[in-house]
Amino acid sequence: MQISNGLGKKYRNWRDVFKVSRQMEFRAFNTGSIASSLKPYTQQESIPNNFDSSQILSSPVMMFYFKHPKKGDILIDSGFDKSFHDNPPFGNLSSFVIDFLNSNNARYTQKKDEDLLFHLKKHKIHPSHTFLTHMHPDHTAGIPALPSLCRICYGKGENSSHYKRMTGDHLKGKKDICLIDIDSGDAIPPFNKALDIFGDGTFWALSTPGHTKDHLAYLINTVPTPILIAGDAELNKWGMENCVFMNTDYGYKGKLEVQASAKIIRKFHSMYPQVQIWFSHDEASF
Ligand SMILES: [Zn+2]
Repeated sequence: MQISNGLGKKYRNWRDVFKVSRQMEFRAFNTGSIASSLKPYTQQESIPNNFDSSQILSSPVMMFYFKHPKKGDILIDSGFDKSFHDNPPFGNLSSFVIDFLNSNNARYTQKKDEDLLFHLKKHKIHPSHTFLTHMHPDHTAGIPALPSLCRICYGKGENSSHYKRMTGDHLKGKKDICLIDIDSGDAIPPFNKALDIFGDGTFWALSTPGHTKDHLAYLINTVPTPILIAGDAELNKWGMENCVFMNTDYGYKGKLEVQASAKIIRKFHSMYPQVQIWFSHDEASF
């Protein structure tokens, strides 16, 4: 199955989109932590001179939830399942990814009752859809804990052997995979491609490539303020404030695309400062 444009009406700008905002419950959850230096995850030349980029930092692994009036419970990214607590430090990651993390001295941790399923049970969340910002394993490692019929949606440009190696067995047994054709989206400045996912203006995929080939940010058009999930298009709140750029997994072209996408998000923030911005590796929002 594929999600393409054409369902909803056309909008000239985000102000018009925000006029059709709806009351939708939203929550952000931390499912574990990554201990690492910034080195493997950022463009070194963008790190402020006075910052020691070799120091080990701990970053949360976030998962987001909102309740759509018709489609029900929706997740954005999946964080970690319980295997990271039961089988530390790398839980259900593939050996390919574990080798990369070991070579970068990175460690994953998870406290008791921090995993995806614990949060879902505690808050009586029954996800009908999970939308992924991108196919890196720290975003897909909760998927094994989801029901087999939960629809898993991600950018069609990440349906490749490269990203299948990254995610290993995370999507195994999932019967309803849905690819998002962001290229069919419309330009709503400053974003080049924005896709009205359900055709009702409530939930948008936003093209933000660079960190990965077809990285998507998402906008939840809720009240009192809309919410932008930046995923890994930005490191965190500090990174956005200090003009840090994330690393890429496809070379020089990817680095430039990271920079272009981050500049679009920063421009959007200056145009619509009332919109909350959340990051995949920060418990604070902008
Ligand atoms: Zn990532």
